[in-house]
Amino acid sequence: MERCDTLILAGWLIDGSGGPICKDMCMAVRNGRIEQLRKLENADREHPEVKDFSGCTLLPHLVDSHVHLFMSGSQDPWIRERQLTSDYNHARELIAAHRQSHVRHGVMAVRDGGDRSAHSLRYALETGSSPGPVLCTAGNAWRQKGRYGSLIGRTPPEGMTLAGAIGTENPGADHVKIVNSGLNSLTSFGKTTRPQFTLAELKPAVRAAARQGLPVMVHANGAVPVDIAVEAGCRSIEHGFFMGPENLAKLVERQVFWVPTAVTMKAYSEMLSPGDPGREGALRNLEHQLEQLRLAHGMGVRVATGSDAGSPGVYHGQGVVEEMKLLVDAGFSLSEAVQCASVNGAELLNLKTNGILASGQTADFIVVNGSPEGLFDQLRHSARVWKQGASV
Ligand SMILES: [Zn+2]
Repeated sequence: MERCDTLILAGWLIDGSGGPICKDMCMAVRNGRIEQLRKLENADREHPEVKDFSGCTLLPHLVDSHVHLFMSGSQDPWIRERQLTSDYNHARELIAAHRQSHVRHGVMAVRDGGDRSAHSLRYALETGSSPGPVLCTAGNAWRQKGRYGSLIGRTPPEGMTLAGAIGTENPGADHVKIVNSGLNSLTSFGKTTRPQFTLAELKPAVRAAARQGLPVMVHANGAVPVDIAVEAGCRSIEHGFFMGPENLAKLVERQVFWVPTAVTMKAYSEMLSPGDPGREGALRNLEHQLEQLRLAHGMGVRVATGSDAGSPGVYHGQGVVEEMKLLVDAGFSLSEAVQCASVNGAELLNLKTNGILASGQTADFIVVNGSPEGLFDQLRHSARVWKQGASV
C-alpha cells in the first residue's frame, strides 16, 4: 500500500454516528479523504507526516440548522433596530463577521431562517464558493398578512396565494421558510397561537417549493400549527414548542426533522432580570421543551441542532454549542448531541458530504483541546477546523 499523505493521531474521536467515543485513534488521510480509521499503533508516531493530537478530541464539522445571519443576537434594542433596517453594505460586513464566529466554534455550515431584506440570500449568491461555512439561505420567509414574522418575512402579494407566490419568487434560494404560528408567550405558560395558514394553503405551497427542488422549513409552535405543517409535507419543524407527543410520533413516522431551538428560551431567562414575570415564563418554556426533547430522544425523532442565532441573547457560533449542552441536559449522550449538530444537520441541509468521520469520507473535522468531558468549553476556546485533511 502506498503511503498516505498525513497520519492524524486523535486522543479521542467522536465520529458523528452517535455511537461510543473512541480513544487513541489514528486517521490516515490521502487526497483529502479518510483512507483508514483505526486504533493507534506505536509505529504511527514515526510516520514522517504525522499530526499528533493525542491530547485532543476530534469531531465532525458542526452545522447550525437555524440562524439569522443579518442579526447579531445583541440585546440592545437600538442595535437590533439598526440591524433590522440596515442596507446591504452594512449587512454584508455583519454577515462576514458572523461567518468568522461560526468558524471559531467549528461550525462549517448554517441554514438561514430568513431576513427582512433577504440580505443573507444576496450575500450567499455573491460570495458563492468562497471559503468558510456553507450558507444555505431562504431569503425572505413567508407569513400571513397581519401575523407574526415581519422581522424575517413578507406576505404573498395581494391577490396571490402562498403557493402562487412561492412558485414564482425564489431565485437562488436553497430552501423555503414559512411562518405558521406566533411566538411563545413568556407570561401565559403553554398559550399557543392559531396557525397562519390552513392545510389547504400549506400543502400546495410545499408542492410548489418541491417543484423547484426546495425543501420547506416551517416555524411552528403549538399542536395545530405543527400538525398542519407536517401534514403539508414540510422537511423540518422549527421550534415546535408545545407540539405534544402525537406530533412527535408523526415526526418519526414522516421522517421530518425537528429543530427545537431550546437555547432561545435559556437566553431570555438570562436576559430578563429576576422578578420579571417573563424570566420565569422563559424558564418554564425551556423546561417544557427539554421534556419534549426527552420524549423525542426515546421515540427516535431526528433532531437537528439549530440555535436561532440572531435572536436576542443567542450569538453566532456559540449558540449551537449552547444548544448541544441543552440536548445533553435532556438525556442525549455527548456523541448523540454531536450527531444532531453534525450528521443530522448535514442531511437536513443536503450538504455534499454527510459529515460522518469514517473510511472513504472527506477528512473534514475539528480539533479541540482536551478530553470530551471539557468539549463544550473547549469548543468556545480552542476549536481548529481541518478541511480535506488540511488545516484551515
Ligand atoms: Zn428563527
